[in-house]
Amino acid sequence: MKSPIASIAVVLAIVIGLGVDGVFAQQAPVKRNFEAEIQAALESAKTAAGFEFLGTLVRTCLLPQSGGEDTRDNVPGYITNPASAPARDTWYAEPAKVFDNLYFVGGKLHSAWALTTKEGIILIDTIYPYNSEALIIGGMQKVGLDPKNIKYVLISHAHGDHIGGAEMLQTRYGTRVVMGGPDWDSVAKYPNRYKTMAPKRDIVATDGMKITLGDTTVTIWLTPGHTPGTLSYTFTVLDRGKAVNVAYSGGTAFNFVNNTPDPGIKNFQTYIDSQKHMAAKAAATGATVLLSNHSEFDNAFNKNRMLAGRGEGPHPYELGADWVQRYFQVMQGCARAAQLKLEQMVETKR
Ligand SMILES: [Zn+2]
Repeated sequence: MKSPIASIAVVLAIVIGLGVDGVFAQQAPVKRNFEAEIQAALESAKTAAGFEFLGTLVRTCLLPQSGGEDTRDNVPGYITNPASAPARDTWYAEPAKVFDNLYFVGGKLHSAWALTTKEGIILIDTIYPYNSEALIIGGMQKVGLDPKNIKYVLISHAHGDHIGGAEMLQTRYGTRVVMGGPDWDSVAKYPNRYKTMAPKRDIVATDGMKITLGDTTVTIWLTPGHTPGTLSYTFTVLDRGKAVNVAYSGGTAFNFVNNTPDPGIKNFQTYIDSQKHMAAKAAATGATVLLSNHSEFDNAFNKNRMLAGRGEGPHPYELGADWVQRYFQVMQGCARAAQLKLEQMVETKR
């Protein structure tokens, strides 16, 4: 037999239910509360970020976004006038051996990674044309790697801060270049923008494509959004002989707002779907390390310095699977908040 309290609860539920139904039957549909939805998305991103992903949170949730797609084809200032390139002390970072087979050869803000294998090196991203020589070539030599052994270079996306050294590597060492199809198309479409940077069209990445060199495989995942051809990766590194799985996120900022005719709502959905795709691949591969294409987003610059004092302690890059998922929640929360602002804008214009 039901207890009296349970019976009262059932009666109350019916009464309340009828009451609510009655109210809705008489009134117009409730207007969406965009402010509340935006706040909820921002809160979810902030909670997920903690202290670990503050850089990513600031860039994607808090700072103004960088505007619509650039359709101009201008030669970058640092190519026309090399003296205008940022000063060395603004970007120079020391190279670092981060895992047994993974070396950081990037700068203070941008990443480049050399993954060593028994048959040569896979390089991930190439920074700017003006600092790839110092950071990648110089950095590799400093940690005892020979740049001639770079067999593949994977370009996360065709922006000057990631593709900058690709043409140099292809021409100098015959390195095979892997990039997303739409980003290869951009390189062809804007010859001035990619002056001195554009590699000859080579390997077109597909979702799930494996780049294998010797004993090591990098799996490519298509994560369009930041650019239409943005790539992310999963691969395994060794920490003092122990296998550790890495998720590499290839594009971050929302540089596609105000595109016409869609203000960016669809592109944000593409971006959000890509984060979900990559989060699922990170979970499926047991990734406990999150690397970003910007050293300001995965704290590579600071973590490389922490490594020096590691001793017998934990690896500063090894966050655990839950934290890797939280990175993708930050990206999704911030993207959803920005998408909601556009939806609100469209709604109020009606
Ligand atoms: Zn970019």
